[in-house]
Amino acid sequence: MDKSLTSGSNHLGDATHNEVHIVRAQLQDLLVEARHNQDILNRHQTLDLQLIGSHSFRELIQHIFVTLAELCELDQVTLSLVNSQHNLQDMLADLKIDSTEFPFLLFVQSETELQIEARPLKKPVLGNYETDVHQILFAPCFEQPISVAIIPLIRQSKLLGSLNLGSMDAERFSFDMGTDFVERLASIIAICLENVINSERLTQISLTDALTNVSNRRYVEQRMLEEIGRARRQHYCIACMYLDIDHFKNINDQHGHQGGDDVLREVAKRIKAELRLSDTIGRFGGEEFVVLLVNTSHANALMVAERIRNSIADKPFSLSMGGMCDVTISIGIATLSDDHNLGEIDSTANDLLLRADRALYQAKDQGRNCVRVAIDD
Ligand code: GH3
Ligand code: MG
Ligand code: MG
Repeated sequence: MDKSLTSGSNHLGDATHNEVHIVRAQLQDLLVEARHNQDILNRHQTLDLQLIGSHSFRELIQHIFVTLAELCELDQVTLSLVNSQHNLQDMLADLKIDSTEFPFLLFVQSETELQIEARPLKKPVLGNYETDVHQILFAPCFEQPISVAIIPLIRQSKLLGSLNLGSMDAERFSFDMGTDFVERLASIIAICLENVINSERLTQISLTDALTNVSNRRYVEQRMLEEIGRARRQHYCIACMYLDIDHFKNINDQHGHQGGDDVLREVAKRIKAELRLSDTIGRFGGEEFVVLLVNTSHANALMVAERIRNSIADKPFSLSMGGMCDVTISIGIATLSDDHNLGEIDSTANDLLLRADRALYQAKDQGRNCVRVAIDD
């Protein structure tokens, strides 16, 4: 064999081999990068779908604090919302969301509170975390971030709030970075926020009694089924109260319909003041209210009912047209203990309500301004 030829061809072969090797390595890198980009794209798509698919305020907020933080590998995520007329806080109370459920949800009274160094927040602001500027936005976080992105949430030229992203990586957000991604994310979140807030409001309106602002009958009936189901699963007792204003017709006769309406509003307010956030109060019609007390023993229900009765009887009502009026209320209570929480939920709910109503009739029969408990309790 011709050695020179062989060695020559070997030499050439080595060069080609090396090139192939380099190209292959480059290809490999490109592939890794393409996969990485595809992965980022997939994660963003997953996030978009989750945000857009949120049916409630609670669900959307959870996606912002959990899904967004996880998929985008962020160390801190907080959300500041402009709550100019306290409407949002009222909405949270209606949704039974208390301040401990979402510690990273912050409220500001006006857009000016979201200004950064006296400049209105119109574009995302990216860069290093600075205590005096950013601390207020990340105050609830366990650790303060190193780099941050403060992104305005704008809808129809109105600032709804800001999405505040933090990272322990100093390189993650720098002032010269492109903001396309965060701006796109912010517009999706702003649209979703506006949507869920509007839809929660509509639902709220359809389930609220316009005169007294407490829930209406439809809501209480719906809620009752849910609460009976939950009490059954978690093995606790619930109580139902039927409340009816005494001689309300006389109040209307003496003080006019408007005076009667004032009394209805004030009665609802006084009942509500004696309840916990987890309890439900609804106007069932006319001058009748129903209250559901969750995880409440017979004895406790009786105590709450007495408290309500007293809070109404003890202090005269002042009417908007002037003048005062004494009001009393009669209350019937029925409780549903764990060992009686059986059978169809619908009929269990009807039965509970019926027993409370019968107890109310007893209270009326036995002189009014008193509390009676269903006989079989
Ligand atoms: P009792 O002590 O037995 O409960 O007597 P009552 O007079 O309270 O009960 P009754 O059911 O006879 O009368 C209820 C009255 O409530 C009759 C109705 O005109 C009045 N009413 C119902 N809805 C409203 C309302 O929205 N506003 C006002 N002002 N009155 C209402
Ligand atoms: Mg009545
Ligand atoms: Mg009445």
